[in-house]
Formats: sequence, C-alpha cells, structure tokens
Amino acid sequence: MPHQASAPEHRTSTTERGSFAHARCTCGWAGPARRSRDKARTDAEQHESAV
Ligand SMILES: [Zn+2]
Repeated sequence: MPHQASAPEHRTSTTERGSFAHARCTCGWAGPARRSRDKARTDAEQHESAV
C-alpha cells in the first residue's frame, strides 16, 4: 500500500465541546478532556514532541 507511510504525520488541533476542550491528532490520538484549552494545547504539544 503506497499510501501508508511508516511515519504518519502528527498534526494536532484542539476541539472544544461545551466547557471542555481536548486535543486530537491526525494519527488518531486524542487527548483527555480538559477544562481549559491551554491544557489541551499542552497535551497536543507533548504528544507531538513525544513521538
Ligand atoms: Zn499523533
């Protein structure tokens, strides 16, 4: 399958739902729901730097 890269891209974004926000990534990862968007963004940054 030529479309499957061995190292998928990690593009994170944050999604807000009500008073909660969580980070998600194009690789399928999703962070826990946070009460603040700042924390969700921190989750995203840690995910990107941890890979
Ligand atoms: Zn990822």
